[in-house]
Amino acid sequence: MWYNDGRTKIEIIMKTATIVGAGLAGSLWAVYLAKAGYKVTLFERRPDIRLAEIQAGKSINLALSHRGWEALRAVGVDHHVNELAIPMTGRVMHSIAGELTYQPYGQEGQAIYSVSRGGLNAKMMNLAEKEYGATIHYNMQCTSGNLDEGIVYLTNKLTGEKTEHQSDIVFACDGAYSALRYNAFQKLDRFNYSQEFVADGYKELLLPANEDGSYKLDKNALHIWPRGRFMLIALANEDGSFTCTLFMPFEGDENAFDKINTKSEIETFMKTRFPDFYDMCPDVVEQWGTHPLSSLAIMRCYPWTHGKAALMGDAAHATVPFYGQGMNASLEDCHTMGRLMEEHNHNWEAIFKAYQEERKPNGDAVQELSKHNYLVMRDFVADPDFLLQKKFENRIQELYPEKYLALYSMVSFSSIPYAEALKKGMEQDVYMKTLMKEHDIEALMNDGKIDDLIHRIFKDKLVVN
Ligand code: FAD
Repeated sequence: MWYNDGRTKIEIIMKTATIVGAGLAGSLWAVYLAKAGYKVTLFERRPDIRLAEIQAGKSINLALSHRGWEALRAVGVDHHVNELAIPMTGRVMHSIAGELTYQPYGQEGQAIYSVSRGGLNAKMMNLAEKEYGATIHYNMQCTSGNLDEGIVYLTNKLTGEKTEHQSDIVFACDGAYSALRYNAFQKLDRFNYSQEFVADGYKELLLPANEDGSYKLDKNALHIWPRGRFMLIALANEDGSFTCTLFMPFEGDENAFDKINTKSEIETFMKTRFPDFYDMCPDVVEQWGTHPLSSLAIMRCYPWTHGKAALMGDAAHATVPFYGQGMNASLEDCHTMGRLMEEHNHNWEAIFKAYQEERKPNGDAVQELSKHNYLVMRDFVADPDFLLQKKFENRIQELYPEKYLALYSMVSFSSIPYAEALKKGMEQDVYMKTLMKEHDIEALMNDGKIDDLIHRIFKDKLVVN
């Protein structure tokens, strides 16, 4: 590895780097750069989250999977995150009647992990600052930049003072609504940009722990209440609670945010659509009233680099959260940029060119995958044919792991580039649907004969795609 090969940090000349945004991508990228010997300065719009009091009901978590872990592992900081991570080995679907159906995510021993956003961010900021010497300036809002000169323009949010900061390289890690993208990249000739708000919004709700601190649901699963055009999901927090998210259209029929306003409308909606959840969460009506309704958007743009600056994470490829991959893709950007930094021996012109050529197709693919998985979570996980296909695929994967990797496994348990996973996954889906038409898979499973069929088909097959 480039940072671990015995070289004294920077044999190369000491370079300065500015990172705008100390969120998930920015704080990890600071560790990468500082470990490689760069003098790193981060500017963050918010106050220091490590000093802010965590308010009840404000605990937000994310699903961390293989790509995110690999990005952490590559700079040796994964063990700092282990203690925050709650493994989720599969989905538990909750029907209206309260029946539970479990669907494993992958093979025995595979899991995705529920991790506190604030906890992960604070850990990375500590490492960047205290272990590797990066400097973080808080309450400093970037307003724009000069990409050719490596300058960022800043406003101190407490004093209103305006300053600028120049360095050898600049990274915009300032999220979906990136100011550097909006006010600098988007002013460039031939810079493409599009923004697509999906029809659905989301509201976060907190399912508290039992009085003795225990969990009300299985903490080692991601819980889904799929209801067709809307759904509720829940991921465990370390303190026994679950952070739950209701996704639903802003406008529409009776199941839309604009139709549910009064206390009695909220109560009726929750009681009839999510009865088991309603029984466990007595203050859901109050929470509905006080928790904000947020929107979701996909942002596409290109090029991702210009002059001395690059876009990373959501600033480059913000997506909807339905595959649980936005953060993972953002951390993978750091991993890729770190690898390219070594391959191109800190020649930033070459690194930026290779970075955007390699990552842009994957950014596009993660956005497609996220849109597709919305349908999977909302509709298909309650569809018996879909569940049967998943069971069939799981069994194929168990028997012939070297020949068949289901799409979910490619995305969540491998580093296969997103674009390749998307293409392969779509081809496999067509193939699976053909097999399901040609054979009575359900009967074969019930009769214990499914393995015979799988062996017949896959024994001499090379690779499925
Ligand atoms: P951010 O985490 O948004 O960080 C940007 C940082 O920049 C922030 O600290 C911000 O304060 C700062 N900033 C912004 N503007 C400025 C400025 N002008 N000047 C200075 N600083 C600035 N992803 C997953 O992988 N798994 C999940 O389960 C998952 N669940 C999600 C659920 C929801 C409801 C949502 C909305 C997203 C979810 N995501 C998930 C996506 C994930 O949150 C993002 O992809 C990830 O946060 C991107 O990281 P980032 O560092 O690029 O941006």
